[in-house]
Amino acid sequence: MLPSLGARVFWTDLATEDGFTHRDPGSGTIGVWLNLRLRSQPARLRFTAAHEAGHIAMGHLTTAETDASPEAAQGRERDANVFATELLMPAEAFRGVAAPVDRRVMGDLVRRLGVSWDALMNRLDQLGVQEKDQSLAVLRGRMGAGSGPQ
Ligand SMILES: [Zn+2]
Repeated sequence: MLPSLGARVFWTDLATEDGFTHRDPGSGTIGVWLNLRLRSQPARLRFTAAHEAGHIAMGHLTTAETDASPEAAQGRERDANVFATELLMPAEAFRGVAAPVDRRVMGDLVRRLGVSWDALMNRLDQLGVQEKDQSLAVLRGRMGAGSGPQ
């Protein structure tokens, strides 16, 4: 996904961030740096890659050069998260899913969409399918040993 947007991907050891994208103002070259630890966290890696793709696709790398205010930066982060959410968990994927969503259905969605349990529960809430508190209660009530959210 990232190379098709013209970005080079670099794996690196980042202290706190999962990843970031930078455009060289001179050459226009785009690089995406991903945290090495995400190699063992596929769901988080997918979300981070989709988030960074959002920054590229929505032209954030250029607007960041003209408006570096905290409010604008925050807006770009929010928009990139929305982009990633809709790319990885499109509303159509939830057609026919209705509350109460049990653990088996949530597990199927987590596997099929390649997202984390937390991201799935947030999306269910956002789509008005099931509030996150209810999803958490379902998981707590039915979790067997070693079968909980990662
Ligand atoms: Zn970002």
